[in-house]
Amino acid sequence: MNQPAARRDPIEDLRRIAFLLERTLESSYRVRAFRTAAAALAALPREDVTLLASTGGLRTIKGIGDRTAAVVEQSVAGEEPEYLATLEASSGGPLSGGGEELRAALRGDLHLHSDWSDGGSPIEEMARTATELGHEYAALTDHSPRLTVANGLTPARLRRELDVVRAVNIAVAPFRLLTGIEVDVLSDGSLDQEPGLLEELDVVVASVHSELRMPADAMTRRMLAAVENRHTDVLGHCTGRYVVDREFLRGRSGQTRSGKARPESQFDAERVFAACAEHGVAVEVNSRPERLDPPLRLLRLAVESGCLFAIDTDAHAPGQLDWQPLGCARAVECGVPAERVVNTWPLDDLLAWTRDHAHRPS
Ligand SMILES: [Zn+2]
Ligand SMILES: [Zn+2]
Repeated sequence: MNQPAARRDPIEDLRRIAFLLERTLESSYRVRAFRTAAAALAALPREDVTLLASTGGLRTIKGIGDRTAAVVEQSVAGEEPEYLATLEASSGGPLSGGGEELRAALRGDLHLHSDWSDGGSPIEEMARTATELGHEYAALTDHSPRLTVANGLTPARLRRELDVVRAVNIAVAPFRLLTGIEVDVLSDGSLDQEPGLLEELDVVVASVHSELRMPADAMTRRMLAAVENRHTDVLGHCTGRYVVDREFLRGRSGQTRSGKARPESQFDAERVFAACAEHGVAVEVNSRPERLDPPLRLLRLAVESGCLFAIDTDAHAPGQLDWQPLGCARAVECGVPAERVVNTWPLDDLLAWTRDHAHRPS
């Protein structure tokens, strides 16, 4: 009866709960309790955690409350925590049908954020989760200075972030965390970071975040300038739209995001995609469920235009790194060939391409 239970790792159980909540687009705020508790326990010897769990002392630790203590107690007792079991049942399954083969071919993700800009988790946690999802590489692409609402990085902060990335890479090897940026495309089409720094980064995602309603001809000129900029590797979420994906959000409790719907920016997509094809810039398939950008008709146009693609999550929390199936299903629906998706390429080819956009895997 009283035989030792199969050992579970309470820290992994807390991380899994956070991951599943984030994957369903739960706000980082609601997930924080679980990530904070995991970090608090990680700082203690395992024996102390076991002892505290068996004596009811967990709640005396800063960062652990009633709900997280219950999870740890069940986990230490060798049981799957009830809260985790409920979440696995409601939201542990596949996010979308279709695109499984393409998802399996992906080796990395080229668009994600950490708590250095507006993400919810530290750089290393993002990298570790990307590793656990089977990735070989991922590019850290925090925001640029003018995007102050997203705590965009000044040149000085970006340089400091690069030091952190170097340290994280030692901890997560052989996984490779690439340096990068999601750089704002300013209204005149220039990029919001020092050219010298852009030159140094592995991956530059250029995105429009402001003045989304500018007239089509001005927006076209702005986007063309960004695509023609030799630092740009990926054109991020090209229309800037927000949709409400009812299918994805079904079953979620709490707030509705219907207030966030936003129409597409107007621009000459034929010209912009032709420029992407000419300059070897990848069109991003943004997998965020409230973006799903580009819309299918534009994704088909980009395929016809001969563009390269990057299927990215734009994750702002570790669990959101699991959103690629949403983008893959859409890419397959629109006939995107896997060999034109740059993040199916081996790391060496990917880096050769970011240095010289004419490079293709042999
Ligand atoms: Zn963006
Ligand atoms: Zn982003």
